[in-house]
Amino acid sequence: MPIDINKILKILAQEVAAYKVPVVDLIAVQSNDPYQVLVATILSARTKDETTARAAGRLFKKAPDLKKLAQLSEAEIARLIYPVGFYKNKAGYLKKLPVALNNFNGIIPETVEELVRLPGVGRKTANLVVSVAFKKPAICVDTHVHRIMNIWGYVETKTPLQTEMALREKLPEEHWLTVNSILVAFGQGTCKPVAPHCDRCVILQFCPQIGVTPRKIPGKRGTTQQHGIKKMLCWNVNGIRALEKKGFVDIVAELSPDILAIQETKAQPHQLSDSLKNIKGYQSFWHSAERKGYSGVAVYSRIKPLNVLYGMDCPEHDREGRVLTLEFEDFFLVNIYFPNAGNELNRLDFKLDFNGHLLDFVSKLAVQKSVVICGDYNVAHREIDLKNPKSNEKNAGFTPQEREWMDHFLAAGFTDTFRMFHQEPGHYTWWSYRFNARARNIGWRIDYFCVDEKSKTRVQSAAILKDVMGSDHCPVQLDYK
Ligand code: SF4
Repeated sequence: MPIDINKILKILAQEVAAYKVPVVDLIAVQSNDPYQVLVATILSARTKDETTARAAGRLFKKAPDLKKLAQLSEAEIARLIYPVGFYKNKAGYLKKLPVALNNFNGIIPETVEELVRLPGVGRKTANLVVSVAFKKPAICVDTHVHRIMNIWGYVETKTPLQTEMALREKLPEEHWLTVNSILVAFGQGTCKPVAPHCDRCVILQFCPQIGVTPRKIPGKRGTTQQHGIKKMLCWNVNGIRALEKKGFVDIVAELSPDILAIQETKAQPHQLSDSLKNIKGYQSFWHSAERKGYSGVAVYSRIKPLNVLYGMDCPEHDREGRVLTLEFEDFFLVNIYFPNAGNELNRLDFKLDFNGHLLDFVSKLAVQKSVVICGDYNVAHREIDLKNPKSNEKNAGFTPQEREWMDHFLAAGFTDTFRMFHQEPGHYTWWSYRFNARARNIGWRIDYFCVDEKSKTRVQSAAILKDVMGSDHCPVQLDYK
């Protein structure tokens, strides 16, 4: 039965009145100033509300208006807004903002079409500014609105933009201004992206829960283990279509894993052959990058998962198809293709930002049940993890920042399973195609299976399958009880 949107939004408006107000709405209430709403909205992307509120407070103290903002250097802005996500990029946008606004006589424009011409302003930000700052009809569709509207079956869309367009057609205009703040608060507090609190949801009786795995109520969690999951493999295939031609399907049959997580598939779903999608005995799940021929992860599983999560609810990173999570009865399998920091380290900041989000994501999963985190981490952790540590200290994959993050990740309670069993150097998972590196074993160990504290005792053995050819990486294995 279709949901009654008027009734549901009315109930939720009352429900979230007791929740924390989203930060941009709060700033609008406090200042009523389009400049401050616009700047706070730019700061808020990929940033927790508390961090945005503090950063906006520091910035507005020095730059309460555009004129004062123009007097600040980019470095000063960056210092004031740190540590909001992508603070360097955002400092650059804010530095350019006063000049860009000259095209609008120094006044914040009131339409989405004009706002998106400003630096750092996408459709979501523009809609939010129009509705919050100017109280004009606009529907700001962020990840919560997009997700929850699909859970309700009110729209059936794949992207936030499609959701915005569908809601413009369908949603009564009286809800346009408020739907974002209601669903952001509700999405953060109850209908969370991972394991929503259906157990305490005020609209449970009206919700069709499309595609949802509700949170298990404490004390009622199932105790039966998922038997049969023994052998897990993880492999950066460096292009699944190229590897298919080198016998991938036969290699899978021969290795016979229960779960196989692959990275760098470099393929869109429509480019996959039936043989790749339907290997006998397995279900396959694919998360591809928007950009063709780039990145992408997939998992083959003999066991039907309870739930599959595509990405980590972080659009900047999710569009690169890097994270795919399968939820089983008593553990999560998270398959990751970490970004490469780039030849000139031009993507180091992006990678560190990804890493930060990833650690938050897996830490939240680990609160619920065991987590196995595998993938191409694109970092050699210690000197014994690559052949030539000294000459690579400034290179992507072995920079102090990337290694420090790995320290931080392990200190947060995760364990590198290979090092539970093997302490000596000389074990690598990736070799350059140049200089006959693989034959000479001049390589790097950058592919890992890590587990959280709860999973440690379930680890039986870990190995590197260095003789499996077909990619510049070899598979790594985890045997798991
Ligand atoms: S019942 Fe569950 S899925 Fe539906 S809105 Fe409530 S929390 Fe979300």
